[in-house]
Amino acid sequence: MYRSHTCGELRKSHSNTLVTLSGWVQKTRDKGFVVWVDLRDRYGITQLVFDEERTSPDVLEKARSLGREFVIQAKGTVIERASKNPNIPTGDIEVLVNELTILNASKTPPFTIENETDGGEDLRMKYRYLDIRRNQVKNNLIFRSKVTMEVRKYLSEQGFIEVETPYLIKSTPEGARDFVVPSRMNEGQFYALPQSPQTFKQLLMVGGMDKYFQIVKCFRDEDLRADRQPEFTQIDCEMAFVEQEDILNTFEGLTKHLLAEINGIEIDAFPRMTFDEAMRRFGNDKPDIRFGMELGELNEVAQHKDFNVFNSAEFVGGIAIPDAAIYTRKEIDRLIDWVKRPQVGAKGMVYVKCNEDGTFKSSVDKFYNQDDLANWAEVVGAKAGDLICVLSGQIHETRAQLSALRMEMAERLGLRKPNEFAPLWITDFPLLELDQETGRYHAMHHPFTSPKPGQLDLLDTDPGKVKANAYDLVLNGNEIGGGSIRIHDKEVQATMFHHLGFTPEEAQAQFGFLMDAFQYGAPPHGGIAFGLDRLVAILGGQETIRDFIAFPKNNNGRDVMIDAPSPIDREQLDELGLKLQK
Ligand code: ASP
Repeated sequence: MYRSHTCGELRKSHSNTLVTLSGWVQKTRDKGFVVWVDLRDRYGITQLVFDEERTSPDVLEKARSLGREFVIQAKGTVIERASKNPNIPTGDIEVLVNELTILNASKTPPFTIENETDGGEDLRMKYRYLDIRRNQVKNNLIFRSKVTMEVRKYLSEQGFIEVETPYLIKSTPEGARDFVVPSRMNEGQFYALPQSPQTFKQLLMVGGMDKYFQIVKCFRDEDLRADRQPEFTQIDCEMAFVEQEDILNTFEGLTKHLLAEINGIEIDAFPRMTFDEAMRRFGNDKPDIRFGMELGELNEVAQHKDFNVFNSAEFVGGIAIPDAAIYTRKEIDRLIDWVKRPQVGAKGMVYVKCNEDGTFKSSVDKFYNQDDLANWAEVVGAKAGDLICVLSGQIHETRAQLSALRMEMAERLGLRKPNEFAPLWITDFPLLELDQETGRYHAMHHPFTSPKPGQLDLLDTDPGKVKANAYDLVLNGNEIGGGSIRIHDKEVQATMFHHLGFTPEEAQAQFGFLMDAFQYGAPPHGGIAFGLDRLVAILGGQETIRDFIAFPKNNNGRDVMIDAPSPIDREQLDELGLKLQK
């Protein structure tokens, strides 16, 4: 038996008990006549003590030889400590050791395995298994496990069945490139790894499974913007005989369940907002609604003077930054530089200081009088002491820039509190999105999403106007889930592919299996998928999903620990019938 207790378990009530512990040596302190060892495992730290009076010389000698991260087993008696450590749960006791076994020695680890470590991110990624021993990473993994348990509990109670779907499949269009896997047995042919189990979960509905879920890996080969992973986990769900309302209610329930069980927070308000409203008020389809600073459209009140920048713009909009009228010229210049960064992309920024005495001071005083500026202030909801920031240009871009500014200012003002949660649904997304470069429409969600009832004909006349039965779940400014009511009719699905630029042959070749299935009694169905990594990070009050993944990849999609991806040898290539161009 390696242990009778864990390193987080012993208390004063265990005094005088004989115990056996196993774990890692976090630290040894050798005071000459006495040696203390901090022994660590997943559950905590227990202090071991060896001293000249009570420990045999050979055991004491062995204790002195222990290095950091040695794996040991210690047998001894629990005793009350003379000087207690109130910072750890086992701080009242220590174990007086009489038998010590070194189970495995350790090289000196490349960084200290403590809460405050001296290891940089790259080093810790290379030795991720050591980083996992640290509380931060360990606790995040435990937290993640708790979240998935609660997800499974809630969904099972609602009658969902967990079904696995294959990883070696044919392409699923979710808007990214596929990772492909060559087939040895079918030379020259490739599987694709699923970008999501989308088509399979729909086929499970045709198969009569009624309520499906799966906590599942998805693979998308896309350029890794900050905090994305090429493989990530979804809570993937699908239900038959449902309308949008049924789905929203079910997953509102899941979200509330998680916030209650994991964060101890009861949520009453679960607002819904259409895509159009979200864009208008927040310039963003995943608004953080925990604070104001909503966008005001200033076209009407700003386009009647000689200021050409505004007059020629499709859209003039502003936000009021609370209590920022006191900003110095320098601070405002820095803000202007910030909105002009390529990542934000504004050409410039007009500002209005709303002075405490009710007057206004703006960077466009030449063109606008006090009454004009008072009108602006009213539109953007600015009060005395606020700073109004105004941007102009194309409507989509300008709204996005204002949204970026709004989020940045909220961050700086501390309005994005990690422990405050405000979920909401965004509904009525456009069905299609125009790709400016190719001039082609593509599905905003995915090609299996159904248009709003009665809007099918609009696809021919004004495709950009068609709204979808699609919805996103947003939490604190993050899209944590998205789904739709699906097309379940072969003809409608064929029409959809046609509008997405597929020839009937292409559609048949790629998605014939789905359209065929629709001919055998496909029930009306719909679903949703949550990004588990992000959901867990947000519930955990953190931003980076990498911190909640046991073995994440870096920004270049590399696993630096196992050094993947890596070349394969000639033999393997031959076997697969592959030849590299370079
Ligand atoms: N498959 C979709 C996605 O990955 C989710 C869904 O429509 O259920 O975003």
